[in-house]
Amino acid sequence: MNRPEILAPAGDPEKLRMAVIYGADAVYLAGREFGMRAFAGNFSDHELREGLIFARAHGAKVYVTVNIIAGNDDIRRLPAYLSFLQEAGADGLIIADPGVFVLARKYAPEVPCHLSTQANTTNWQSALFWQEAGFKRIVLARELSLPEIAEIRAHTDLELEVFVHGAMCWAYSGRCYLSHYLEGRSANRGRCAQACRRSYYLVEEKHPGEYMPVFTDERGTYIMNARDLCLLDYLPGLVETGVNSFKIEGRMKSAHYVATVTKVYRRALDACLLDPAGFRPDPAWHNELRKISHRPYTSGFIAGNPGTEGQVYHTTAQESSHEFIGIVQSWQDGRAVVEMRNRFVEGEQVEIFGPATDPRPLTVRDLRNPEGDPIPAAIRVQEHVSFAIHFPVEPFSLLRRPR
Ligand code: SF4
Repeated sequence: MNRPEILAPAGDPEKLRMAVIYGADAVYLAGREFGMRAFAGNFSDHELREGLIFARAHGAKVYVTVNIIAGNDDIRRLPAYLSFLQEAGADGLIIADPGVFVLARKYAPEVPCHLSTQANTTNWQSALFWQEAGFKRIVLARELSLPEIAEIRAHTDLELEVFVHGAMCWAYSGRCYLSHYLEGRSANRGRCAQACRRSYYLVEEKHPGEYMPVFTDERGTYIMNARDLCLLDYLPGLVETGVNSFKIEGRMKSAHYVATVTKVYRRALDACLLDPAGFRPDPAWHNELRKISHRPYTSGFIAGNPGTEGQVYHTTAQESSHEFIGIVQSWQDGRAVVEMRNRFVEGEQVEIFGPATDPRPLTVRDLRNPEGDPIPAAIRVQEHVSFAIHFPVEPFSLLRRPR
């Protein structure tokens, strides 16, 4: 049976560790340049080597995004970076630009090339073109239905990767100039300002200052604000098409997001592979996906063009039922050391979960600072505080609280 990988985002070294520990078969990340998320922490050369060692030790692969639309200056600087990526042992290079692909073949010939979703592959003839060019894998466009993906699969031996979760573009990925036009920040250089998420008005040139609301319907004016993708319910169909990789979007999201989404899709896919015919998404998985920061979910194009149902018209805000507050660093003799991420207080009701542990409620008791003195609240981000937890806690467990 086809066993697709779970491919998770690694926006920085901590998120890489979370992704791998919470069940990813592979992660994707960028160095400090040439990737499509310039505002994620990303990886220095040293961090990239360390990340590869960590992933290898846990049996996971690392794909590196080099998927900007390159300018001449990039072409001059890329050879050294590509040689470094091969020498460091990257498992794949995610590329959108033919010029970058030519350089990758020359300076990193042993590393397989994956065609980025920025190339917008939406038909099997394009897939064959890229296969003949020498790509090993294609990250398909998000704007495809299940039958369309199956038809592409039927015509090519290439590995196919599909997005199953995360933010969607209002435009085809990489075909958007809105952010560059309005803010001078090019989405094609990894610097998208999410200009599509805003509320827009109409102004007639002879009446400056008179902002006329634009109503798509009675709900409001966020006319380009796409919902977030969630294909949990469609895993059996996707497995059956024979795609090789299920990709989770979100290199800019938190370690909590990466851990939660990776764990949910890991469990769901394992259940699906065990019994595809009997697969029913566990309501608890959907509940977990409501705890992380997200826009209202959609199944995107998988069951056909979503039309207006693919947009959120009334708000640009993201929602989440829970707030991430800390990462457990260690647990010994009934006390946990926690790296604080958001303020929490003595006596507060929180929730803890780990890579193999289901969410469990907990009261913060006997909170102490790093010197061991009792404190009423943890208030300094990244400070290591401790409190009593009377059951064993897994390494890499996370804490959150209901909003
Ligand atoms: S502005 Fe919106 S549509 Fe354009 S690239 Fe950014 S997220 Fe996508």
